Amino acid sequence: MATVESKPAAVSTNGAAGIPVENPATGEVITTVPAMSAEEVKALAARARKAQPEWEAMGFDGRAKVLRRAQKWVTDNSNRIIDVIVSETGKTYEDAQLAEISYAANAFGFWAKMAPEYLADERVKSSQLFVKGAKLIVRYRPLGLVGVIGPWNYPLTNSFGDCIPALAAGNAVILKPSEITPLTSMLMADMLRESGLPDDVYQVATGYGETGTALVDEADFIMFTGSTKTGKKVAERAAQSLTPVGLELGGKDPMIVLADADLERAANGAAFYSMQNSGQTCISVERVYVEEPVYDEFVAKVRDKVGSLRQGRPGDPGSVDVGAMTFPPQLDIIEDHVKDAVEKGAKVEVGGHAKTEGGRFYEPTVLTGVDHSMKAMTEETFGPTLPIMKVKDADEAVKMANDSPYGLAASVWTKDTAKGEAVARRIEAGAVCVNDAMLNYAALELPMGGWKESGLGSRHGAGGIRKYCAQQTLLVKRLAPKRDIHMFPYKAKTTRLIGRVLKFLYGRGKRA
Ligand code: NDP
Repeated sequence: MATVESKPAAVSTNGAAGIPVENPATGEVITTVPAMSAEEVKALAARARKAQPEWEAMGFDGRAKVLRRAQKWVTDNSNRIIDVIVSETGKTYEDAQLAEISYAANAFGFWAKMAPEYLADERVKSSQLFVKGAKLIVRYRPLGLVGVIGPWNYPLTNSFGDCIPALAAGNAVILKPSEITPLTSMLMADMLRESGLPDDVYQVATGYGETGTALVDEADFIMFTGSTKTGKKVAERAAQSLTPVGLELGGKDPMIVLADADLERAANGAAFYSMQNSGQTCISVERVYVEEPVYDEFVAKVRDKVGSLRQGRPGDPGSVDVGAMTFPPQLDIIEDHVKDAVEKGAKVEVGGHAKTEGGRFYEPTVLTGVDHSMKAMTEETFGPTLPIMKVKDADEAVKMANDSPYGLAASVWTKDTAKGEAVARRIEAGAVCVNDAMLNYAALELPMGGWKESGLGSRHGAGGIRKYCAQQTLLVKRLAPKRDIHMFPYKAKTTRLIGRVLKFLYGRGKRA
């Protein structure tokens, strides 16, 4: 288990010039993939544009057939996909199964079913007198070529996942996966081909950042997931051609534990949602604020739970709880945040060390005595760390939660759900859960997008597929006289009449 038995068929290597793909849990190089040049990306784009009209012409039903076959392929081959994900990310079997396979399997069926509904022509009624009698329609047409640039933390969910609605809408897609984790995206090319997707409708552009930049220059829409810093670069580049972008960026998600919370559940939630996927999730719990009366009890529970987590090289299902760190520089970031916190007075309750023999790991870590002078509380750590801060009351918790440039997601824990919802509404974040965290992401009907520096636009829901389309308004005039009242030549009598009508329609309110 957790070894790549055979590399995906789509992997082509070009020897020394290729990018080595490493297993972060063992340090072994699995294979190499090409670093594609801007010219090669241009050639992929030309092929994609040639293939796209046929895919669009297949209509919702034709495309849904392919997507449903893909759904079956993913479930039939889940162990094979998990093997590839685990090998290139170092995550556990369960992390790959729960947050990747279950997402993709659901997403294929969801977009196959919902695309026709979300993209159906909308008949619109207007109160505007001048358009009375005309048929008003809003319709959606695929943009053509969508570029998806993905990160390394969820090669299936975060990288490939965004391709599914883009394809369902009738676009061709080029996916540029992170250079660290390209293999899952390539396996998906095999999967889609076997599911009946026409050639070149989905292609993978492996490479470094420059390959991503080249894709920005070619695509009609860019869906980017990754760091805020790179997201801004992508937006800047896209602005040169006025290419629309969707940005799903970093987060520093707060968890607020109120004094009346079910502390056992809150502690389980804190341990799971901070350490799952080794904390390498944009919406993982990154900081906790606990009301004073229950602070000590909560910390004790979390310390015990996190302290008993089993970490190590992913093996058979159930063998470890926390896997490796996928991205090499991430270890330095985590070490820097923990060191900075300790130097400023924080206490390491459990963990606090990197483990780098035969793989890349960081111990599940709980910090207390933290405040907002520390990077661990203000910058995205993206690792298995959980800083917990004591607060006086819910007001202080909300103030602290909002003291961040980020606004991706948050959670509030309390037995009083009405109070929880009221607190949730005061938090500046795109998604807030009460007595849970992250789970909103699984409900594809719910839009998911960040506020502030956490992003632009959203994925999922109607907006998650409409963004891959050009919106077109149609006004069809059925009763069409030779000349409308507002047309040339202007006549004083008509102008006065229109003035009276405007006054009647809009001028009857009071000014004070
Ligand atoms: P990046 O944001 O740098 O990379 C994301 C993707 O963008 C990768 O495919 C990357 O390619 C590509 N890319 C890099 N530069 C450019 C460019 N100029 N134009 C177009 N595409 C480009 O993330 P990192 O992998 O470097 O991670 C850095 C930090 O980002 C992490 O420490 C974490 O804090 C955060 N992060 C957030 C994620 C989220 O889900 N919100 C996911 C992953 C990371 P390549 O990998 O080849 O450089």
